[in-house]
Amino acid sequence: MPMWNPEAESMPRNALEKLQGERLAKIIEYTYHQMPFYRQKMDEAGVKPEDIRSLDDLNKLPFTTKQDLRNVYPFGNFCIPMEEVVRIHASSGTTGKPTVGGYSKNDLELWTEVMARTVTSCGVTNKDVAHNAYGYGLFTGGLGFHIGFQRVGATVVPVSGGMTRRQIMLMEDFSATILTCTPSYALALAEEAGNIGINFQSRMKIRAGIFGAEPWTEEMRREIENRMGIEAYDIYGLTEIIGPGVSVECEHRNGLHINEDHFLPEIIDPATGEKLPYGTEGELVFTTLTKEAMPVIRYRTRDRTVLHAEECACGRTMVRMEKIRGRTDDMLIVRGVNVFPSLIEKTLLSIEGLEPHYQIVLDRPKDQLDELEVWVEANRHFFEPIDTRRLDQLRDEAEAELAQTLGVRATIKLMGPNSIERSAGKAVRVVDKRALYKDS
Ligand code: ADP
Ligand code: ZN
Repeated sequence: MPMWNPEAESMPRNALEKLQGERLAKIIEYTYHQMPFYRQKMDEAGVKPEDIRSLDDLNKLPFTTKQDLRNVYPFGNFCIPMEEVVRIHASSGTTGKPTVGGYSKNDLELWTEVMARTVTSCGVTNKDVAHNAYGYGLFTGGLGFHIGFQRVGATVVPVSGGMTRRQIMLMEDFSATILTCTPSYALALAEEAGNIGINFQSRMKIRAGIFGAEPWTEEMRREIENRMGIEAYDIYGLTEIIGPGVSVECEHRNGLHINEDHFLPEIIDPATGEKLPYGTEGELVFTTLTKEAMPVIRYRTRDRTVLHAEECACGRTMVRMEKIRGRTDDMLIVRGVNVFPSLIEKTLLSIEGLEPHYQIVLDRPKDQLDELEVWVEANRHFFEPIDTRRLDQLRDEAEAELAQTLGVRATIKLMGPNSIERSAGKAVRVVDKRALYKDS
């Protein structure tokens, strides 16, 4: 499969590292002078821009956290005057203030470039019709894909999220070949097609989907691929860095290539901040090397993964990150046991008869221990007519499996078709009633 920008994407690693070092020195110089809060951090750490000359100097620099950005909300980390800021986006920020993303004209050009690389990596060309069901608006997903598709000359259908039934009609009528949305919404689309008697595989021309913006397991990927008869690619990004376009899988789908000439990745130990070598799991940290409006230096994403630098058969030299394993803050502690939502998803999807729609509900009734409930839909054939004996068996089986993989007891609540709310964007997987305030 072709690359959008082979010169950049397959640059020899020594040349790439040299380029990264030069860009790093420049961006630090720039940020130090343009962003007061980061200058203060550097001053406190006793680091001067002159101390940063190559990649080896990176670990002298202080980290930036989500809280740092919140402290200067909304525009305190912008490095250019508002006259030169041409676009604003923001993260969902369910509870707290959202994180803002600001873009100069050049930043939008950069975003377009990395999104053109991204969609090309998934085989998109000017012959494709791209049904873009990521939300358009403040969320970066919709518009991020939009500019990438336009740049490669594909026909983009800016349908955004919601009105699922209408989407099915449009997807078929317009002969869409590419689908972009969250993995959970992909499932909702496949399901809705089934509800109105449309066999997705035979009626739709979609051959590939580019899914991201929320965690999803390999089991979920298989589920989506089987239901839709497509190839599903994983894409990763975040508002603080640029939105989608930070990394994406290639045709080998053995990790997501990071656009490292612009976004410099590191893995650190989240507890100590110590830099970890390739091949080790830890927290992903990014430094933007070329952004103007809002560079971020050593930004702690809170996302957990592993980086690999070995060459990839596709010819790209850019490091690969494994599928995100979760966030450093999404681990649930249930009666003292660490529980990862991704492990619950993996387990549920391995059980015949359960559907990929679930929610994890945590509660702590007064003076009692934590209660972990998993609400999951069972296949509709158990309900037509309702077969309580087999539903009880299924529940027992699921509870036994979960107890074994999690090491803590979870109560399974089997639900009928469509009882877990479908999301057009990021699915809400965990409802923690124990906490009054949960950070987004
Ligand atoms: P919010 O933090 O409000 O969700 P964003 O829309 O910027 O704001 O989302 C970025 C976050 O979404 C990432 O830090 C990561 O946790 C998650 N994310 C994005 N893409 C993926 C992906 N492919 N796999 C897992 N998680 C992802
Ligand atoms: Zn590759």
